[in-house]
Amino acid sequence: MSHTAGAMEGKQLSVRGLTHSYGGQNAISDIAFDIEAGEIVALLGPSGCGKSTVLRAIAGLIQPKSGAITLGGQDLAHVSARARGIGMVFQNYALFPHLTVAENIAYPLACQQVARAERRDRVEEMLSLVQLNGYGNRLPRELSGGQQQRVAVARAIAGRPSLLLLDEPFGALDRALRFDLQVELLHLQKTLGITTLIVTHDQEEAQSLAGRLVLMNKGNVEQIDTPMAVYDRPKSLFVNTFIGQANVLQAKVERFEGDTTFVSVGNGRALVLPRRLNFTTGSAVTLTFRPEEVRLVTAPSAAALPVKVAVSVPLGPTLVHDLMLDDGTSLRASEVRAPSTSIPEAGAALFAEVDTERVHVFPG
Ligand code: ADP
Repeated sequence: MSHTAGAMEGKQLSVRGLTHSYGGQNAISDIAFDIEAGEIVALLGPSGCGKSTVLRAIAGLIQPKSGAITLGGQDLAHVSARARGIGMVFQNYALFPHLTVAENIAYPLACQQVARAERRDRVEEMLSLVQLNGYGNRLPRELSGGQQQRVAVARAIAGRPSLLLLDEPFGALDRALRFDLQVELLHLQKTLGITTLIVTHDQEEAQSLAGRLVLMNKGNVEQIDTPMAVYDRPKSLFVNTFIGQANVLQAKVERFEGDTTFVSVGNGRALVLPRRLNFTTGSAVTLTFRPEEVRLVTAPSAAALPVKVAVSVPLGPTLVHDLMLDDGTSLRASEVRAPSTSIPEAGAALFAEVDTERVHVFPG
């Protein structure tokens, strides 16, 4: 009798001290994170930061130099890639071109020596899960890109893996289709309760799919948090500028007054931050704040910097201002736009009022 898809059981993944190098060059160093059973986590970072290397080590496609990977408490060090019970989806579909859709999906089942009748049932079940009923006899080339990727997902989950790994799965698809498939994948993942790790360099994709993000930069983990925490409380300048947009200003700590800190920006312009910074007087610091945390006003204040408007661009519901400080540094501000919102002239001299509660301060 065929099991139901719901019988799939996601397992907890644990990665510790994962380090790997290619030709003496360290690609990843001391990577550590967990994914709880049934959780979906995104490994996010710029191209070349080591995401695929982490994924390949988990899948058993490379032997890492050091570190431990456990799945459901079992150490995978001496478990072959095939025996790990991991399903994988790559960007380029990687379907067998000469096999039909049904044969592609059945392939891992045949490897697992699942009986023929059970295989047929499971292929039907998978086709229905990815909404491709009736497509079993087609060849991959007779399908659209989105449909091919659905087959790749069906093939990856047909063997009831306890972990699903997705490497830039929607990278080759256009935006609208990507979104549809993301929604479908999320639904499938929740329905099946399958532990999932998705690798992407696309922050929107990561934020819309994953409950938690593992942010990587240059072979290291910079932060592990929910998408909101990563956006609101970035632990490093890298995270702050990689996730969402951020204005970055070089500043100097001038003096403290009670619970406030006076910093200077650009040509000695003062900005008062409503807290005592943990830096000594004279320290060079980097201030960051989001465009939505800047308001264009007509009057100076302790939280405002004089600016010239370079250009203001209405983007549907948002009005984006490109501004310039008097030392030439660019700033961006964005505000919600209504039909009544007036658009400043290019060259207008105004003040950029910063929500100083929300300013992040990093060393240097
Ligand atoms: P990402 O997936 O984040 O783009 P990768 O894990 O593919 O990053 O690569 C991490 C680093 O390791 C990069 O500098 C890349 O050039 C290097 N690298 C990846 N694969 C190989 C390989 N097979 N041989 C040599 N260097 C590699």
